[in-house]
Amino acid sequence: MIREMSSKSVEGQFSIGVDLGGTNLRVAVYRAGRQVTELISLPTRLSQGRERVIHDLKEAVIALRARFEAHGESAGIGVGTPGPLELPAGIIRNPPNLPGWDGFHLRAAIEEAISEPIFLDSDANAAALAEFELGSAPAAGIHSLCMLTLGTGVGNGIILNDRIWHGNNGMAGEAGHLMVEPDGMACPCGSRGCVELYASATGVVRMAKEANDPILAAALPRNPADWTSHAVANAAIAGNATAIAIFQRVGRALGIAFGGVANMLNLPLYVVAGGLSNAWDLFAPAMFAEMRLRSYVYRLTAAAPGDPLDTPGKSFVRRAELGSDAGILGACLLPFTQDEEALGRSIAQPTEAS
Ligand SMILES: [Zn+2]
Repeated sequence: MIREMSSKSVEGQFSIGVDLGGTNLRVAVYRAGRQVTELISLPTRLSQGRERVIHDLKEAVIALRARFEAHGESAGIGVGTPGPLELPAGIIRNPPNLPGWDGFHLRAAIEEAISEPIFLDSDANAAALAEFELGSAPAAGIHSLCMLTLGTGVGNGIILNDRIWHGNNGMAGEAGHLMVEPDGMACPCGSRGCVELYASATGVVRMAKEANDPILAAALPRNPADWTSHAVANAAIAGNATAIAIFQRVGRALGIAFGGVANMLNLPLYVVAGGLSNAWDLFAPAMFAEMRLRSYVYRLTAAAPGDPLDTPGKSFVRRAELGSDAGILGACLLPFTQDEEALGRSIAQPTEAS
């Protein structure tokens, strides 16, 4: 891990990180000293096919590699991608944000394109890694966390004892599909009532439409197609009772999910990240109340308001410290983890051209 490495060999090294999103493809150079020094951001041209996206990725990586290789030693190339992702093979499985990519051998395609083995992980795992390494956790002596990223869906990354927890097939970290309402609405994953359906930006907008409240509608854009979770949050801040109730539902869903995780894993830190986490003040009271109700493990260990993160034996639920750059930062950090087996770097067969 970086913590162990930082005193050794990171100095002078650089890595290249790729954040392959459904909307944007971002490629960055990261240097010791923990900052991104160069960033290329492109639209992900999904409509032009997988080959076009891989080609764009390759061009950006090669350009950055050529520019930086004279200035230091490359630690490698890290790639974060929407999941589910099967590791170590690097095969995309049923990705909601990459339509048409089901079964795609992403690792093989990228490694062939850039003639170099890569460090591959899910975007949610990469973001959790960045929060873990670059947030307050290291200074507080925290070695494990569970992060939920509230965006279009709900992403999840779990760090256990300084390592990303991948599970048996690389598919751990799908807490966005923990069930919070057994008879709730159908989820694209096949289950019902998943936390993602209530605690995502998409879920907030859907609940606003379902509420069919003319007073709320009057506070939002005229065309419901233009409604956003941000606008619903503003309505809640302005005192709209329906919008307030929607964010309480967000909080309850998160509290049930984190409560289950707490009962199972008794972690020191639970993190809420992603754009919707900006509505923290609207959902956090319900989240804390529900988590206390659902988890006696959490109730027995919960930090008091104001407790510093390094308070021994306490459990914390916090907003993420990194913003929207967590994904690309995490991708940049993957090569420094030195966790090759777990990260599924293809140790055995680099491509011929390398
Ligand atoms: Zn689901």
